[in-house]
Amino acid sequence: MDKLLSNAIDSIEVGMEDFQSGSERRLVSAVRNVYAGLLLLAKAVLWENSPNKDGSLIYYTKTKSDGTVVVKTGKTVDVKTMQERFADLGFNPDWGPLDAVQAYRNDIEHFYSTVRPAVVQEQLGRTLPLIQTLMGEYLDVDPKDHFSAECWKALLESKDFFDAMQNACAETFADIEWESDEVLFPKTHLRCTSKDCGSYLVAQKWPDQTEHLHMELICRECGSEPDVEDVLEAALKESTAVDAYIAAKDGDRPPLAYCPSCIRETFLPDTGNCVICDFQLQDRCEVCGARMDIDDYNPDFEGMCASCAHSLQKAWYD
Ligand SMILES: [Zn+2]
Ligand SMILES: [Zn+2]
Ligand SMILES: [Zn+2]
Repeated sequence: MDKLLSNAIDSIEVGMEDFQSGSERRLVSAVRNVYAGLLLLAKAVLWENSPNKDGSLIYYTKTKSDGTVVVKTGKTVDVKTMQERFADLGFNPDWGPLDAVQAYRNDIEHFYSTVRPAVVQEQLGRTLPLIQTLMGEYLDVDPKDHFSAECWKALLESKDFFDAMQNACAETFADIEWESDEVLFPKTHLRCTSKDCGSYLVAQKWPDQTEHLHMELICRECGSEPDVEDVLEAALKESTAVDAYIAAKDGDRPPLAYCPSCIRETFLPDTGNCVICDFQLQDRCEVCGARMDIDDYNPDFEGMCASCAHSLQKAWYD
């Protein structure tokens, strides 16, 4: 574990140095290094929590017929599996920063032709709380003691920069009316979709406006006005990813479902409506009174649960 931890620290240190050098090539490398460092930190946590601290949780494993678990290959788990293993351990850190840096890294490597220094600083700045949780809470070490003074200062400054910018954006959504208690309005997950940007500094253009269906968005970084439907759908998916995994594992209702009307993954089973097109699922079946589930919905048998729709269909064709 110590080796993983020191590699993680090195990687983040190098990343922050890259960032401070400021050249475009090194900005890309800053994102790559800090992202790699976060992954290593998370793996150090899995290592530490593996049975007998044997490190097996960071690898793909298989169970032999006699029940013993063996490491399948030397291949370490991907990010999604890693996050699932955290959830299995009962650890649920806010993965937002890791998911964000991962998405951003992917975009700058494959789609963007230029890199914006302010967006890089924003991405790096939001990682500090995750570093603090992984090290302080799960590894029981004080991050400040492990980073060089320069790197620690750079992390703090980036975090302050990001917090200030993000708070200003989040405030513009303060009055948005939102029904669900289970899935909150994803104000810190709204990400600019315009090319070469990817900033999370997305604000509501008219902050007095209170209806989420009527929001107009603006990116404070590049000035573009991203499509609210695309931004909201992606943000909800990102903000509910861990809950979706836990619900699937426990056989519970997922936090999000596909809306049968607009075909976006923006239907909230919690409130029974779609946050984009306002499609509303009837509460109860008109025939038998059973509670309706989104999987019951059939446009040919509106208002009926699947079982009543099935009986009626059968009656027609028999
Ligand atoms: Zn933008
Ligand atoms: Zn819809
Ligand atoms: Zn029914």
